[in-house]
Amino acid sequence: MSTSKPDTGRRRLLAGALTAPLVAPLAGLIGLREAAADEMPKLSLDDPQAKGLSYVHDASEAADNAAYKEGSHCANCQHWQGGDAEWGGCAIFPGKRVHRNGWCTAWTKQA
Ligand code: SF4
Repeated sequence: MSTSKPDTGRRRLLAGALTAPLVAPLAGLIGLREAAADEMPKLSLDDPQAKGLSYVHDASEAADNAAYKEGSHCANCQHWQGGDAEWGGCAIFPGKRVHRNGWCTAWTKQA
């Protein structure tokens, strides 16, 4: 059994040297993901899934829907992924953007 102390400074330096090349590409991928989200097509009202979930671009048009709750819209839905954008991603409609004032029957209050 060895009695020498581990060289923690060297280990940290080595760990940093090994992880730095991995972190930079990941940061680039995140940037690409944000750019890709901006380029996703807007959800069409003719999309079968949009029709199935009664999606509308303007929540005020859903007032007659029994599932509609006053004040609900995409930007305050748990599935909204658009941040402050006018059009943004939605977990229910992957690969498409929905309007921040839109609404569908999958609306779930943000936690
Ligand atoms: Fe909008 Fe939420 Fe429906 Fe997605 S799930 S379309 S964010 S209301």
